[in-house]
Amino acid sequence: MTSSLPFLPFSRPTIDEETIAAVAQVLRSGWLTSGPKVQAFEAQLSEYFGGRHVRTFNSGTCTMEIALRIAGIGPGDEVITTPLSWPATANVILAVGATPVFADVDPLTRNLDLVKVRAAITPATRALLPVYLSGLPLDMEALYALALEHGLRVIEDAAQAFGSVWDGRRIGAFGDFASFSFQANKNLTTGEGGCLVMTNAEEARLAEKYRLQGVTRSGVDGIDVDVLGGKWNMTDIAATIGLGQLATIDDVTAHREQLARHYFACFGAEFEAATGAQLPLPAFGSSNWHLFQIILPDRGPGTRAAFMRRLQEEHNIGTGFHYAPIHLFTLYRERGFKEGMFPVAERIGRLTVTLPLFAAMTLADVERVVGAVKQVLT
Ligand SMILES: *Cc1c(COP(=O)(O)O)cnc(C)c1O
Repeated sequence: MTSSLPFLPFSRPTIDEETIAAVAQVLRSGWLTSGPKVQAFEAQLSEYFGGRHVRTFNSGTCTMEIALRIAGIGPGDEVITTPLSWPATANVILAVGATPVFADVDPLTRNLDLVKVRAAITPATRALLPVYLSGLPLDMEALYALALEHGLRVIEDAAQAFGSVWDGRRIGAFGDFASFSFQANKNLTTGEGGCLVMTNAEEARLAEKYRLQGVTRSGVDGIDVDVLGGKWNMTDIAATIGLGQLATIDDVTAHREQLARHYFACFGAEFEAATGAQLPLPAFGSSNWHLFQIILPDRGPGTRAAFMRRLQEEHNIGTGFHYAPIHLFTLYRERGFKEGMFPVAERIGRLTVTLPLFAAMTLADVERVVGAVKQVLT
């Protein structure tokens, strides 16, 4: 049995014709690297985040690494994060020479469990690095109360949370550092890229240094390097894509929410009991619906691979898995992590599947996916 319908991927970027024309103009302009478009994009992002300081970079990964550097985190410091994320989240902690400490996730939100985070705090803890998986924020009041109580910085890995909201306020518009990714699958893309929202002008100045070799310029020909920076600046080509995406992000978020609502309606109230699968939390009004993830019923080793293969081969539907637990990768096992340490993240990491959800999808596409999932699971 194979589907005659076109392939439906789990994610696909949408770039409108105005944006394509604007990129063509940049290509003809004689200025490709960081310039007026980056400045304009940063100004609009700052406005979007309530006037806070924003700087752009060429990935969400280096954005988090730079936040750690600005916070002065390095060797001897512990940073608490979730094992259920893309490797970047923990890799950046290693990259600055600090020690990643994992805490398990909550089975319903699939985000850091703040009770477990509290238990993981030691005198060496310097920062919390929470992830808003699929665009669902943590309880931000509880997160910041815990950070304040222990004098910790917070570097929010908000890579997936552009357009997410907590208690009526945009993620990034309040708090400490908020790091966003503009990688191609994210709700707002620049091809590759990221931005960091910061608290004050001094941090923004440091961010500018770290993203370009630590250079400070003065006068006509003055130049100095006083910190070790990297090559992390965004191009005007990428910023132009970002400007086009930012103009439509509210509509995109609204459409994603409509698709998510349709997923819940089509799965129906009896889906979980009938199949043993688990839907995401219906977090309307806070999630930006970056991903729509279900947890499969455990049918032994190979459960997820078999499910993904059948959706692909019998229904021509692509799926993803976000994520395999970071602590079980070789690099982290070598640092003493092993199975059984974070059982909730390990179970979700084994059984989570990401269903298609992207800006150009239709309600009919959702119906097609739900029909296929029900057929495979029952
Ligand atoms: C995408 C993503 C990153 C990394 O962002 P890049 O732009 O690919 O470097 C980090 N953390 C999470 C949770 C992500 O989804």
